[in-house]
Amino acid sequence: MIPELFDYLKKARKLGLRASINSNGLLFNEDNLKFLKDYDIYLYISIDGATKEAYEKIRGLGNYKLLLSKLKLLEKYNLKFSILFTLSSINFSEAQKMVSFAQKNGAETLCLIPVIPSGQAKKTGIWIDSSLVIKGMEKVAEEAEKLNYKIYALDCPFLKIFPLSNYLIIEACPSFEMIDISPAGDILICDVLDVPLAEIRTKSLKEALNDLNNHPFYQKLKERTKVCSGCPEIDFCRAGCYARSYLCLGDISKPDPFCPRASNFR
Ligand code: SF4
Repeated sequence: MIPELFDYLKKARKLGLRASINSNGLLFNEDNLKFLKDYDIYLYISIDGATKEAYEKIRGLGNYKLLLSKLKLLEKYNLKFSILFTLSSINFSEAQKMVSFAQKNGAETLCLIPVIPSGQAKKTGIWIDSSLVIKGMEKVAEEAEKLNYKIYALDCPFLKIFPLSNYLIIEACPSFEMIDISPAGDILICDVLDVPLAEIRTKSLKEALNDLNNHPFYQKLKERTKVCSGCPEIDFCRAGCYARSYLCLGDISKPDPFCPRASNFR
């Protein structure tokens, strides 16, 4: 963890902002959890498997027991948290089991996100294709329904075209409502494609947002929804994940390559 993290969190809370952190949880201890509780910081904990075998394939030998001990510690501080599960070829078969794991361990919700084919995930080929993502989400939705447990599907807005469960909440891409600011002070196109479109090193946030809105690339993204005109989900889905369009098709203005319906528009 960067040492400034605690200062950033304190400042954010003093400004009245909501604050959350993402962590694998393995470095939690009495001190930092007390701090997080005192400042009312929400936690997203990345857990890549419900079983020891699957979890340790990704997080390293011996760490499953450590994780369970950290989850117990969270309980002691009564900290609210959600689990983030990144769906890949390594842990695909664990997705369904994660539902009861999350519920049993006191997570408010389980958030699922498929690995984006970028960086190491692209090189090692651990990302899974659209048919497996859909199959995985169907199984998870069944389990969520059975256990009455709320699950969020991130970065798959196209799943709206399927009749899944009311317990599986499909999230839209937050890119037009939120901004990603890099440690260098750049406003990025998104947290996957770290292309800078504006900056707050020399500009105020207001000026930077103005630059962002007028950037030709940003305009192009707003226009992109037109490629799916005719789809009833267009207002929600907005042609799906543009990072995936760029990484898989080499063209950011194409619709999400993972959406089976979008092949009609490609
Ligand atoms: S066709 Fe386009 S807008 Fe409709 S669900 Fe697929 S990607 Fe989204």
